Amino acid sequence: MKYIDKNRLKYFVLGGGSNILLGFNKYKGAVVYMQTKGVEIVEDTPEYETIECAAGVDWDEFVEYTVERGLGGIENMSLIPGTVGASPIQNIGAYGQELKDSFESAKVYLTEEKKTVILKRDECNFDYRDSIFKRELKGKSIIVSVSLKLKRIQN
Ligand SMILES: Cc1cc2nc3c(=O)[nH]c(=O)nc-3n(C[C@H](O)[C@H](O)[C@H](O)COP(=O)(O)OP(=O)(O)OC[C@H]3O[C@@H](n4cnc5c(N)ncnc54)[C@H](O)[C@@H]3O)c2cc1C
Repeated sequence: MKYIDKNRLKYFVLGGGSNILLGFNKYKGAVVYMQTKGVEIVEDTPEYETIECAAGVDWDEFVEYTVERGLGGIENMSLIPGTVGASPIQNIGAYGQELKDSFESAKVYLTEEKKTVILKRDECNFDYRDSIFKRELKGKSIIVSVSLKLKRIQN
């Protein structure tokens, strides 16, 4: 983003590209391709785990990781294509589960203010396939990581 700011480039954030259609006109600008990896267990109790996951992690691989740890909350959303970082944008959902139900917070870089903030669930205005990231923060934010609170089902 420093390079983009310095060179005053137009930019576009790309996750897995599964919800994007490319037009025929040539795109002249930078593509910020989210490739950050890594998960961190932030809180571990007998009832639940809170896990922070980097934006570039493949969503389905993350779901598999949580299921293998005996955690419930996002398992019905396995096989949804895309990255963890894109998951809050449209509040992904499938088979009765929605991201917002397990969502704790997201680390978000605000591109105009040039600062990173933590947005909690109540601040994200989640609704059916909707969130603040599709509205007030559209084009002004990059989701860096997502923290989910998942219920322990098996030990
Ligand atoms: C076959 C198929 C099945 C699907 N099934 C479902 C389903 O069951 N449920 C459901 O909810 N959705 C479904 N989707 C939609 C899609 O999986 C989701 O929208 C997914 O979250 C897109 O992730 P992505 O990483 O590919 O995002 P991309 O397509 O790369 O990007 C989508 C938008 O998010 C922005 N973006 C991406 N990452 C970031 C980031 N880190 N920070 C800021 N902005 C970012 C991009 O700029 C773009 O505007 C399906 C799509 C396909 C193709």
